[in-house]
Amino acid sequence: MTKETKIPKEHPRAESLRVREKLLEHYNMGVVAHAGLIAHGRGEAFDYLLGEKTTEPALEAVKAAAAALLTAKHPVISVNGNAAALAASEIVKLSQVTGARIEVNLFYCSVERKKAIERVLRDAGATKVLGIGEDASARIQEIGSERRRVDPRGILIADAVLVPLEDGDRTEALVHMGKNVIAIDLNPLSRTAQLATVTIVDNIVRAMPTLVRISEELRTENKEKLKEIASELDNKRTLGEAIDLINQRLTKLAEKGTYISLLEMSKI
Ligand code: ATP
Repeated sequence: MTKETKIPKEHPRAESLRVREKLLEHYNMGVVAHAGLIAHGRGEAFDYLLGEKTTEPALEAVKAAAAALLTAKHPVISVNGNAAALAASEIVKLSQVTGARIEVNLFYCSVERKKAIERVLRDAGATKVLGIGEDASARIQEIGSERRRVDPRGILIADAVLVPLEDGDRTEALVHMGKNVIAIDLNPLSRTAQLATVTIVDNIVRAMPTLVRISEELRTENKEKLKEIASELDNKRTLGEAIDLINQRLTKLAEKGTYISLLEMSKI
């Protein structure tokens, strides 16, 4: 929490405000970029439209994502400022359950910010964090931004990359390189959502704990079964279902008229 703000428990948007506070706190620590705050706003708008809950298509995608990470040879979790601020301990847990390496990779890149993110991850229990300083010594030519600098032990050789809150350019480049790209993105219309191999349309604060839980459940399954689960997902279909859910909610809300209480809205 920032020093100035106390969020009353009974506030109807308490959870959403707590998440904002967490981001602001990490912005002040140099973890979150100012553009990260704006990106969160775009995510929040879609969360509103989706009813701020994990939907069926999101759960299906989480299952496929867990299976893809558990069957990958070199799974990697790519971490930016917002992901570290909102899900550091789940990132560490997921890495422990799936064997995925953790790599910091940033659009708005600076050594200080990478180190600040590394600190948050280490405080959450990470023992190894790739992509810091000189470690990001490899280049992915297909990527135009600073995100092209990667760790040769991580994203460069990864066959599956989890990219929470990603930009479309990098998703496209990673997919072109033949990698399985798993995105967590509340906006089912974003280029990232549309281009990724598996798209979890959900808030990272709900998606990551769910992904950890389902990975724990699936880790004892045999590899063939896991490969089947991963390949069964039709990403275009689940994205279409997420868009359709938004559409259905908006239609119902429109039928109810111009004013609707938050409580009523959450039931739709
Ligand atoms: P693209 O380049 O893929 O079309 P974009 O330009 O919208 O997407 P960014 O500005 O990098 O990409 O924003 C990051 C994405 O992260 C947005 O699509 C936003 O919906 C999503 N996002 C932001 N906060 C969250 C969150 N807490 N959980 C899940 N997704 C989020």
